[in-house]
Amino acid sequence: MTSPEWDVIVIGAGPAGALAAHQLAGQQLRVLLVDKRTFPRWKVCGTCLNAVALGALAQAGLPDLVDRLGGVPLVRLRLGLQQHQMELKRPLGRSLSRGCLDLALSNAAAAAGAVVRMDTEAAVAGPCSGGRQVHLRSVDASATTSARVVLVASGLDSPGLTPAIPIRRQVPAHSRVGAGCRVEAQAGGYSPGTIHMAIGRHGYVGLVRTEAGDLNLAAAFDRSHLIQAGGAALAAAGVLAEAGFEPVPEAAAAAWLATPALTGRHWPPASERVLLLGDAAGYVEPFTGEGMGWALLGALAVVPLVLQGQRQWDQELERQWVRRHGRLIGSRQRLCHGLAFALRRHGLSRRLLGAVERWPVLAAPFLHPSAAASLSPSAPESCP
Ligand SMILES: Cc1cc2nc3c(=O)[nH]c(=O)nc-3n(C[C@H](O)[C@H](O)[C@H](O)COP(=O)(O)OP(=O)(O)OC[C@H]3O[C@@H](n4cnc5c(N)ncnc54)[C@H](O)[C@@H]3O)c2cc1C
Repeated sequence: MTSPEWDVIVIGAGPAGALAAHQLAGQQLRVLLVDKRTFPRWKVCGTCLNAVALGALAQAGLPDLVDRLGGVPLVRLRLGLQQHQMELKRPLGRSLSRGCLDLALSNAAAAAGAVVRMDTEAAVAGPCSGGRQVHLRSVDASATTSARVVLVASGLDSPGLTPAIPIRRQVPAHSRVGAGCRVEAQAGGYSPGTIHMAIGRHGYVGLVRTEAGDLNLAAAFDRSHLIQAGGAALAAAGVLAEAGFEPVPEAAAAAWLATPALTGRHWPPASERVLLLGDAAGYVEPFTGEGMGWALLGALAVVPLVLQGQRQWDQELERQWVRRHGRLIGSRQRLCHGLAFALRRHGLSRRLLGAVERWPVLAAPFLHPSAAASLSPSAPESCP
């Protein structure tokens, strides 16, 4: 009987995985953080860190990370729908490229004592004495290791769970898919400090300038429209034209990346010695741009359960994670579901935009989400 090699293995070094690894390594646990990509890497994302995301980083002891990296203050939201445009002036957080943010977070995890392995794909396997086995595969080697607790923070990608683990992916049929690219565009209308959101009948495109001056495009489209339009570049150009936004000619030749279905979840987000967090646990279309906030909050919330799981695993820990995750993030995701529903009905979104133009306070729940629930373990937990 040997004890597991690691206290925790974290699969995926995006915001959820890297921050969880940072926090757990800070608790003197032996943490292995693996990612199948090499950082810095670009990822489809709007790059906007809202108040929840910035608050979670501060709570994690990284309050000035984003500003040190040159995060651009976001002060304006410009919405476009059917040639009609409106602007709201509000402090909306920071824009920071994902290459920069994710590399800094995984470096912070390493500095806290985590062992970080890039270019390594992981898959959760069966139980072993006092832990879970994890298969690791890199270009030149493959190995099996083990940990007392495995955190799956693999984003929208397949989390590599063997069929024996009773966690299944659930995706609604209407789920949109994401696509994005980064261009060195000079297009005049897209000034730094503004989130530009173009809304079309079959999707929307968000454009933001990052700290590098690049224009970051991140979009959600109906899957069928993406095919009909002839690809993401043409679909995005169509949405910009529909909204009356300036074209971005450089985007036609850019390297677009696509995502799997955006709205969906793995259910339940816990199994024996395995907890899911971030997009891997569940995600809803990104119109309000708060996925990184959910991922970072989840990373903070999972820490006490992982610490308890070091001593002994108990099914109650799995139930606690389902409740805690639902309380922290589920309620917010339901609100975003509602907004996604409204955006698919063009008449309704036109009326919504008109109402927000008259009474900007109506946008407050979407522009200024607060961490609706306290991270305190004593706060009441309800089932999602
Ligand atoms: C179009 C679009 C726009 C968005 N805009 C915003 C926005 O403006 N603001 C915001 O807050 N959020 C936004 N989001 C959401 C945000 O990008 C995600 O919610 C966030 O990245 C989730 O973080 P994560 O750590 O869970 O996953 P990710 O950031 O996806 O990280 C997962 C990591 O796991 C790695 N991985 C996957 N499988 C394996 C494996 N088997 N082994 C090892 N490694 C693996 C991947 O390489 C990746 O690095 C947007 C999303 C989309 C699609």
